[in-house]
Amino acid sequence: MTDYSVASLIARGAFACPCGKTHAAHLKKAVVGSGVIGRLAGTVREYGGTKAYILCDANTFAAAGIPVLKALSAAEIGYTIYQFPEERTEPDEKAVGAAFLHFDHTCDILIGVGSGVINDIGKIVAKMTGLPYVIVATAPSMDGFASSTSSVVRDGLKVSVDSKCPDAVIGDTEILKNAPLLMIQSGLGDMLAKYVSVCEWRIGRLVTGEYYCEEVAAMIRAALKKCVDNAAGIVTRDPAAVEAVMEGLILSGIAADYAGVSRPVSGVEHYFSHLWDMRALEFGTPWSLHGIQCGVGTVLALRGYERLATLVPDKEKATAAFAAFDRDRWFGQIETYLGGAAQAILRTAPDSDRYNAKKHAQRLDNIVARWDDILQVVREELPPSKEIEGLLKSIGAPVSSAEFGVPAKENALTFMMTKDIRDKYILSTLLFDMGVLEDVSREVYR
Ligand SMILES: [Zn+2]
Ligand SMILES: [Zn+2]
Repeated sequence: MTDYSVASLIARGAFACPCGKTHAAHLKKAVVGSGVIGRLAGTVREYGGTKAYILCDANTFAAAGIPVLKALSAAEIGYTIYQFPEERTEPDEKAVGAAFLHFDHTCDILIGVGSGVINDIGKIVAKMTGLPYVIVATAPSMDGFASSTSSVVRDGLKVSVDSKCPDAVIGDTEILKNAPLLMIQSGLGDMLAKYVSVCEWRIGRLVTGEYYCEEVAAMIRAALKKCVDNAAGIVTRDPAAVEAVMEGLILSGIAADYAGVSRPVSGVEHYFSHLWDMRALEFGTPWSLHGIQCGVGTVLALRGYERLATLVPDKEKATAAFAAFDRDRWFGQIETYLGGAAQAILRTAPDSDRYNAKKHAQRLDNIVARWDDILQVVREELPPSKEIEGLLKSIGAPVSSAEFGVPAKENALTFMMTKDIRDKYILSTLLFDMGVLEDVSREVYR
């Protein structure tokens, strides 16, 4: 298959793939394009909706509220609207609780009007109430539109919880193109991240033997290429550029659904972003939008891979470095760096495969034996860091963490911490296995 538009993927339904899996997406409908808000009422009817419970905030209401209400009224579909009162809604206990306490039990369908935060809350309400859920996107800012999880703040910690994938996504480019520029840049940043995630997925396959699907990787590459080809139009809010980003973001959710893991859509660049988010919550340090941070994380990751390409694994040195690694001291550093947020990591890290000597020896054997293949993957998947830096600069997006207030001198430590965020094989894990993580971090992120 080479037609990777979201519409054709949804139309394709479930299919058996050469990778051995049967791929299926939870998303049943997505309409992206100019004027597609006109299809909202029909979509609501399609899911049997007669009265909608609408979630929004002041900003997202300003972006799309009036056209949504008009479309519903014209079709004689009733509604109850709850607008979050905060200037900036956090997807935490208070907001999720408010969404439930204001719920009107005579409603039989949910409509989220918004992007990241509103959609994350809407997906939880949909899961708990069992009602059909339509998201009217107001900004192409992140890739959670078609996913079945919500990123929330629980007990002060950013966690991912199970929720419900929207039944339908409506992405009207006439609405999306008027989103704050930072949010559109963020969507592109979340897409650029996919260079790294696909590359690391393939490296993970070579080193740990994990599952990989070339069909899913090909989908992501095609969507990413479309975004990059159209990126120049972002500054002028060209609908074609906005549409490419929105399509790519929805497709990313489908790709992750197909794979059953987040491998195709997130890698080390996302962990930079997670760490900045965790520190912001814990210590009030500066932060930016998810995709803005992912864009910067991508530039940092590409620089790291450029250094990797000059290395040759040394088995003896790597084995000695692994044996000499002072885990307790390192876990202490994680605690200092992340505060209370470190606890979740420290509960599982000691028992992870990362620190298992036997597993390390196996991985190291694979790294040495497949070094040429690893470098081949890097060459095939990754553009030069300067190219992506240039692209982000050309659309006015940040290329370094200092631009959103996190000093660049912290990047080395942040990069080292990325290996402990999850059990995912990424650049920092690879460098750790090779016994050169600290040296390379200090050298690349001076
Ligand atoms: Zn497959
Ligand atoms: Zn993302």
